[in-house]
Amino acid sequence: MMYNTTSELELMDSREARGTEEDEDDIDETGSSTNEEEAIKNYESDESASESRSLISNGSEEDLMSKLFLFGRGATLDIDYGTTETAVEWIRSGNCRNIIIISGAGVSCAAGIPDFRTPGTGLYDNLQRFNLPYPQAVFDIDFYRNNPQPFVSLASEIWPGGHSPTLTHSFMKLLERHNLLLRNYTQNIDGLEILAGMNPESVMCCHGHFQSARCIECKYPHPADSCYDSIVKQKKVPICEKCGEYAKPDIVFFGEGLPPKMFCTLQNDLKNVDLVIVMGTSLTVAPVSHIPNMVPVNTKRLLINRDLVGGFCMGEWEDVFLPGDCDQSVLTLCELLGWREDLEALNASTRINTVTAPMNENNTRSFPDNFKNQNEIQI
Ligand SMILES: [Zn+2]
Repeated sequence: MMYNTTSELELMDSREARGTEEDEDDIDETGSSTNEEEAIKNYESDESASESRSLISNGSEEDLMSKLFLFGRGATLDIDYGTTETAVEWIRSGNCRNIIIISGAGVSCAAGIPDFRTPGTGLYDNLQRFNLPYPQAVFDIDFYRNNPQPFVSLASEIWPGGHSPTLTHSFMKLLERHNLLLRNYTQNIDGLEILAGMNPESVMCCHGHFQSARCIECKYPHPADSCYDSIVKQKKVPICEKCGEYAKPDIVFFGEGLPPKMFCTLQNDLKNVDLVIVMGTSLTVAPVSHIPNMVPVNTKRLLINRDLVGGFCMGEWEDVFLPGDCDQSVLTLCELLGWREDLEALNASTRINTVTAPMNENNTRSFPDNFKNQNEIQI
């Protein structure tokens, strides 16, 4: 992935829609809103965010680019990854009580949900049966407008409710229980954060969710149970009751704007964050990929991921990188924090075969009403 400081600074200015993967052609954005523009303006005038942005541009860029240049040429860099003990001390110290977690598909792998980009096993490598022009087309709003069936087929298979939260989801819930979690910005659409027991107010579904639906043209809300019925039971595209065009779940497609509430919430959270934890994400899809580099320079940063990504351990921040599987790193962290017993008990209580949460008529577990309010997507 290219580290592009300029594009980071333009994050909110350009109100990038999901889909600006940094090694791909940009996809036109549609659907900006007044609320969103207001949030952008507020962001631009926000002092702490401006401070972090100026820190990014003050000297560190050249340094980082030269390091990356050397790295790309195969040079051996003496990168300090930090230690698990340091991360534990951050959490224990009482100085990190406003934690932002940025999570991606890697936190759900242990639940049996495929990620998108892993060669061979990832979702994008297993869509040949749909004869797509390119894999991401299955989540492209213009493609859906002309050919919704591939998404309908895929959505019927990945509809939330059939998987249990992982230990990593339970770790996030534990942080919330200890009053240490400010927000989880998740790129996932599997709903496992809520099924792990997290408060909907703590979870920002940056790429939307399946719990509500609307028309792709007139934006008229489409009943969620009817959407489920069409897609999962009948494998048919839901049709808008008002205008007769296609409807779809409130998943953010490439070419659509992100939930406007995300920008307002992020603006405030960046003023308060003292530790950012990035888990299970390749940090390749903007704008969420930019968040770790927007936190003030005195913020601690912890990366739990298979690979070193996002310029961690090479910038101005004090970073720790724990390579490998998310659940394994979380287990180690919780062992050292004295939380392991709580973690495992909490996780066991949310497993599908033991869960006592109410089931709705469609045999998928119910999501609380305030989940939809918190995560209402852009109209
Ligand atoms: Zn409509």
